[in-house]
Amino acid sequence: MSTPTVGVLALQGDVREHFAALSAVGAQARAVRRPEELAEVDGLVIPGGESTTISKLAIAFGLLEPLRERVRAGMPAYGSCAGMIMLADKILDPRSEQETVGGIDMIVRRNAFGRQNESFEAALEVAGVDGGPVEGVFIRAPWVESTGARAQVLATYDGHPVAVRQDRLLATSFHPELTGDHRVHALFAGMVRTTLG
Ligand code: GLN
Repeated sequence: MSTPTVGVLALQGDVREHFAALSAVGAQARAVRRPEELAEVDGLVIPGGESTTISKLAIAFGLLEPLRERVRAGMPAYGSCAGMIMLADKILDPRSEQETVGGIDMIVRRNAFGRQNESFEAALEVAGVDGGPVEGVFIRAPWVESTGARAQVLATYDGHPVAVRQDRLLATSFHPELTGDHRVHALFAGMVRTTLG
């Protein structure tokens, strides 16, 4: 099996946990902070953290346009939580000047699960992930308000999409990198491998 080089956008957020999960599924993980580093990876993970901060830093580091270009050109990308927000074409309630990379035809609502429920865990059936439910860790998580025709909903919680795939792009409201269950990362690594031929 080929070893894809998968970048982790390392501006802010739980970068280290994604490194560990990617290594566990046979990918070579690389930190991406500069456009030159982005150019060298076969796929990219955008971690959980704070999407407003990631957006600001991506602009400050001159990465936003290069990210948009690579996603448009077909680079596989996976975003968890704040990373899901970064891959959404639209945020329902953006903070001022908050930008996304976009690519997935969906509208997300930030911090959607509400204050009393800001963090919780739930067992989720995820389409494309075999072997029983995935333990979803939700931390001030977004949900997907609506999806366009090309976006495929892989999992829902309480009636709301929480995992979505569109072609080579994958996004989850929850954080599989925090659980030691690497099946979602394995799904993504497989998506990257198929682009390598
Ligand atoms: N609430 C955060 C945001 O809007 C996401 C939280 C997370 O990534 N755990 O970016």
